[in-house]
Order: sequence, then structure tokens, then C-alpha cells
Amino acid sequence: MSQICQMCQKESPNHPITQSLISRLRSAQRVVALTGAGVSAESGIPTFRDAQTGLWAKYDPTQLATPEAFARNPKLVWEWYEWRRALRHDTQPNAGHYALAALAKHVPRLVVITQNIDGLHQLAGSTDVIELHGNLQRNKCSRENIVIERATARPTAEGLLACPRCGAYLRPDVVWFGEALPRDALERAFVESTQCDVFFIIGTSGVVEPAASLPRYAKRAGAFLVEINPEETPLSAIADVVLRGKSGEVLPEIVRRLEGGD
Ligand code: NAD
Repeated sequence: MSQICQMCQKESPNHPITQSLISRLRSAQRVVALTGAGVSAESGIPTFRDAQTGLWAKYDPTQLATPEAFARNPKLVWEWYEWRRALRHDTQPNAGHYALAALAKHVPRLVVITQNIDGLHQLAGSTDVIELHGNLQRNKCSRENIVIERATARPTAEGLLACPRCGAYLRPDVVWFGEALPRDALERAFVESTQCDVFFIIGTSGVVEPAASLPRYAKRAGAFLVEINPEETPLSAIADVVLRGKSGEVLPEIVRRLEGGD
């Protein structure tokens, strides 16, 4: 595992900063892990920064995941989500997801705040997960904003699904660019972030708000910030420890050290 100390900028696998992270974790009462698309990349789910494949290669995801795109072309957006659902169906949690679930057994309280909509944290065994951007598997009525079970929906002539109550198209129950986040989830995320001792920033580019602000609130409230990402992000500069690597490799290593691996 390669790591860079924010203080001396040296890269070393045995840098004492790692020990300081392990000590912090051993004494921590509350730990938060903010995760983004990068944590699922090793499961084969592309991030928004990755090029899309096949039929969808010519589309920019940030132009599809918007209310305007759905209003303009609901079929296109629905089919993109059906493709993403099929992708998700064929994938499994990776070592990073499992390590986060294992980490919860070593600290009194661990809350995962995720921007991911894939449900892989829960599948790996994480029990306290705040979903900031909704969940890919659920659908809601695009007019009434209430969750509708797929089995109760009415198929339309265009190959979409309609709400059994009002007839409006169903859409995935996810937060699109430009939309507000679910209030309860966001409020809880802010509370947990400002009350934790250690805050992990894992696999997120740190540019999508308001999630990108959570580490800043945590830091201001005194949390020790740890970033895990193969690439630099706007949040790297405020992290106390930056672990430059894949979450599927770095997180299991942290758990191994916590378990007294060396
Ligand atoms: P992003 O695509 O903007 O950034 C991904 C980040 O992950 C990058 O900084 C990249 O360097 C890093 N990364 C790539 N591989 C990694 C690995 N193996 N380990 C650790 N880090 C790795 O993603 P974002 O910051 O989550 O924000 C974009 C939006 O994309 C969010 O709203 C999210 O809901 C949505 N999204 C979700 C999924 C999913 O549910 N799996 C997939 C794609 C996009």
C-alpha cells in the first residue's frame, strides 16, 4: 500500500502516519465512511468519470442523470437505468465493501454515507448505511414522488412503466443532478459527520455537492480525515492522511492491521 503523508509529502509503506491512523481507529468512538462511485469500480460498475461502454458509449452520464433529460426523452433515460440495473445485477460487492463491513466490528459505531445507488454496501453486510442519492432498485412516480413497486406498475405502449394511481411515468428513485437530496438522509449525514472521530473519504471525486462538503464539516468539528483514492481530488489537501490506492486493496489492509496483522 503506497501512502503519502500530508505533512512531509513522502511516500512510504511504513510511514508512521499509518500507525497514527491505526491508533486513532483503536480509540475512536464514532467512525464515518463517505463513499462514492470509486468504491464500486472494482466490482465492475463504471464511475461517471470512466468511459461508458457499448451502446451507451456516446452518452455523457451527467447529461442523462437529470430531470431535464427525462422530461425530454424518458425512454432514453429509462433504458439507460435498465442497463445500469442489469450491470448491477451481474456484480458482487468487492473486497473494499467487505472490509468496510468488517471494520464496523472493530469500532463502537461505523456509519457509511454513500453517494452510490447500487446497494453493494448492504449486500456486503454494512448495516448502517445512509443513501444520499437513493437506490437504483427502487422506482417512484415522477409526478407524485412516492415509491411504487414495479409489480404494481402499468406498462405503457412506449415500453415504459406508469404509476397505477395517476398514470405518470415511473422513474428510478435516485437523485439526479440539480435535484434536492432526501432531507432525512442529508440531515443525518451532517449530524454523523460532525460527531465522528475519524472520517474516511473513499472513492469520491469530491465535486458533487452537498456530499463534498461533509468532510469539511467533519474536519471543522475535529475529525481525523483519511482519503482513499488512487487519484488526487479537491479534498486531498484537507485530509490528514492520504492513501493513494484502490479501496479494494487499502481497506482490507487497514482491517488487517487493526486485527493485529503486524
Ligand atoms: P465520480 O465518478 O465522480 O468519481 C469516482 C472517484 O473514484 C474518482 O475520484 C476516482 O479517482 C476514484 N476511484 C476510481 N477507482 C477507485 C478505486 N478502485 N478505489 C478508490 N477510488 C477509486 O463519483 P462520485 O464522486 O461518487 O460522484 C458522482 C456521482 O455518480 C454520484 O452522484 C453517484 O451517485 C453517481 N454514481 C454512482 C455509481 C454507483 O452507484 N456505483 C456509479 C457511477 C456514478
